Amino acid sequence: MAIDIRKVTVLGTGVLGSQIAYQTAFRGFDVTAYDINEPALEAARERFAKLAAAYIAEVPGAAGGKAEQTASGIALTTDLAEAVKDADLVIEAVPEVLTLKQEIYRHLGEVSPERTIFATNSSTLLPSDIKDSTGRPDKFLALHFANQVWKFNTAEIMGTTDTDPAVFRALVDFAEAIGMVPIEVHKEKAGYVLNSLLVPFLNSAMALGAGGYADPEAVDKTWRIATGAPMGPFQILDVIGLTTPYNILAHGDEDAQRLAAWLKDNYIDKGKLGIATGEGFYRYSA
Ligand code: NAD
Repeated sequence: MAIDIRKVTVLGTGVLGSQIAYQTAFRGFDVTAYDINEPALEAARERFAKLAAAYIAEVPGAAGGKAEQTASGIALTTDLAEAVKDADLVIEAVPEVLTLKQEIYRHLGEVSPERTIFATNSSTLLPSDIKDSTGRPDKFLALHFANQVWKFNTAEIMGTTDTDPAVFRALVDFAEAIGMVPIEVHKEKAGYVLNSLLVPFLNSAMALGAGGYADPEAVDKTWRIATGAPMGPFQILDVIGLTTPYNILAHGDEDAQRLAAWLKDNYIDKGKLGIATGEGFYRYSA
């Protein structure tokens, strides 16, 4: 029998958790969001209000009350057992710290109904790193969203060798039902599909810039004209913000550290962090 998903609980209401909860509720599912304390829930209410405004501006059908109703329809709680008591699916979007996630899954496994499926939105951890903490590895997998889920609507689905194929299928159907394009990843792969492509691409672009081979503008122009892509790698880096790639490169091998130093000396130390600060590789007007 196909697995029916109606009630969804989202753990963590930060950048991604708030978007996942909102998008899922917008598509008609019954959504509860959990976070650790009252200030975090207050921040969630503010995030939902901002998302409502973004949806009204950008998503067909959101105006005329639906966007606000979506925000007010999401149940918020700091009680984990209460949050998951009827959940068909729990989507976890808590900070990217392995030990923290493992601890949450241990607790979650104890308080959730037996049928509940657990999905992690982790960007860099493999589900195998977490599965033993869940107490139900057959009902555990990764469901990975991209920031700004309403427009960058991929959902990468990746299980472990223990994941029940029926659970995997159910998540593919669920992703589609909430307006995502499901991307099936057949084996565990750090970076899924998107970051397996994007990270080496961005690093190659930075190596051209840092090595003095070509200016960022020339690299971007080449990519746009020769492939028809709308943005070049340095434009993408400005959207992401330079701090995240810097932090990753700074912990890498010698080549990576050279790129990190180039980013730091030429951009980060000058406050050029990307679109968010008004300047990165390019300058942006407010
Ligand atoms: P964030 O820091 O914005 O939000 C994390 C939320 O988790 C906060 O609201 C925090 O209060 C809450 N939290 C902390 N401890 C908790 C606990 N014990 N139980 C429940 N909630 C707790 O983080 P984020 O950027 O939303 O990232 C969350 C996850 O999503 C990470 O695994 C990250 O890899 C992944 N992700 C992030 C992005 C992105 O662009 N930010 C994209 C895809 C995936």
